[in-house]
Amino acid sequence: MHTDICIIGAGMVGLSLANQITERFPNLSITIVEKENKIGKHTSGRNSGVLHAGIYYEPGSIKAKVCVEGAQRLKNWCKENNISILDCGKVITPQKVELDNQIDELYKRGISNGAKVEIIDENQFNSIVPDGFTSTGRALWSPSTSVVNPKEVINRLKDILSKKGVKFIFFENDWAKSTNNKQINLSNKAQLNYDFLFNCAGLQSDIVAKRFGVGKDFTMLPFKGSYWELKENSPLNVSTNLYPVPDLEFPFLGVHATPGFGGKIYLGPTATPAFGRENYDGLKNLDINTSLSFAIHMTNQFFISKTMRNYILNQAFEWLPHKFIDAARLILPKIKLEHIKKSPKVGIRPQLYDLRNKTLVQDFLIIETEGSSHIINAISPAFTASFAFADRIIDNCTYFK
Ligand SMILES: Cc1cc2nc3c(=O)[nH]c(=O)nc-3n(C[C@H](O)[C@H](O)[C@H](O)COP(=O)(O)OP(=O)(O)OC[C@H]3O[C@@H](n4cnc5c(N)ncnc54)[C@H](O)[C@@H]3O)c2cc1C
Repeated sequence: MHTDICIIGAGMVGLSLANQITERFPNLSITIVEKENKIGKHTSGRNSGVLHAGIYYEPGSIKAKVCVEGAQRLKNWCKENNISILDCGKVITPQKVELDNQIDELYKRGISNGAKVEIIDENQFNSIVPDGFTSTGRALWSPSTSVVNPKEVINRLKDILSKKGVKFIFFENDWAKSTNNKQINLSNKAQLNYDFLFNCAGLQSDIVAKRFGVGKDFTMLPFKGSYWELKENSPLNVSTNLYPVPDLEFPFLGVHATPGFGGKIYLGPTATPAFGRENYDGLKNLDINTSLSFAIHMTNQFFISKTMRNYILNQAFEWLPHKFIDAARLILPKIKLEHIKKSPKVGIRPQLYDLRNKTLVQDFLIIETEGSSHIINAISPAFTASFAFADRIIDNCTYFK
């Protein structure tokens, strides 16, 4: 079998890349190799569905360059394809007085990244989110943040790609890199020859990269994101995204409230140790090697990084209901444990760790080698930014030059 382009992984990154290649190079044949029997089993089917406005990211980073444009393009695409969007905006609130100056920093970053942001006063805050809390009477308002159902998005994208002739090979977990150049061996003993391969394997992308001899300086540290939901009879009313000011040295955004479809309000996600790249359900898919690696690197971080020490002492334990409610209370002071129930939704962040300087990698990372390109650390907002991110990957790829 021959394909011009082989993509490993049918998550939002792999699908968007296929979509942009079909738009820009319609004569190329594309095959997507996916280890599961259907799409959406991992991060792209398990996220909050927030189309981020582009506020948090360090100006100059890839995230900063692709988020605003990507969000707008995905929104337009959803509208063209009749996919529901909640245009509910977002408020970022300083949950502690000492975090007030971060509102100015986030405002500056947002403006510099091309996002629409506004600093609001207490009256405006109270009219947008009456049950929320601002420690100083100020907050940041992002009118263009929206919410989609991520499964609806990826399923539609997959259907469109199939109609355009993109070939999907599902349930293909046992493929191996052939000793022949530009070839992989499939589990049915067939060979798939390609001209160029993209590794978009999400939580497994570092392992796949290593098969091609790249990414040896990195390993994945998976962080679990569990959600809770407000019970229907809860007295709290949240009709917008309500986020705390995050620690900008740390890639996760803190427990927040996100409106979902059908009147649901999600709280979370947490960012706790996952004990396995795909360990969504208790300890069912416990992965000893990943857990050991996580424990070793976190212990190390405890001693060298104040940010990570704060994380370990606080957020790492948010799987405990009383710790979770303490975090939720920072933005919704009236919330009580009796107002919430555990949500079945849970995702795991494909967070990369740099073994050389012992830090969590903050930006997306693309490593190209002869005949293949490896997209690793496709953490948030890779879903939001996917179309623009895909174009950037194509623009920088030697195969298309
Ligand atoms: C809890 C949580 C909340 C989030 N919220 C948001 C949000 O609100 N907004 C936002 O923009 N982003 C959010 N994100 C981030 C976003 O979900 C990810 O950035 C994005 O989905 C990554 O897409 P992906 O295609 O790289 O990964 P995935 O969706 O995981 O896709 C990778 C695919 O590769 C397949 N695969 C793996 N290994 C192999 C192999 N060896 N062979 C073949 N196939 C393989 C997997 O089965 C999978 O289908 C969130 C993430 C989490 C965890």
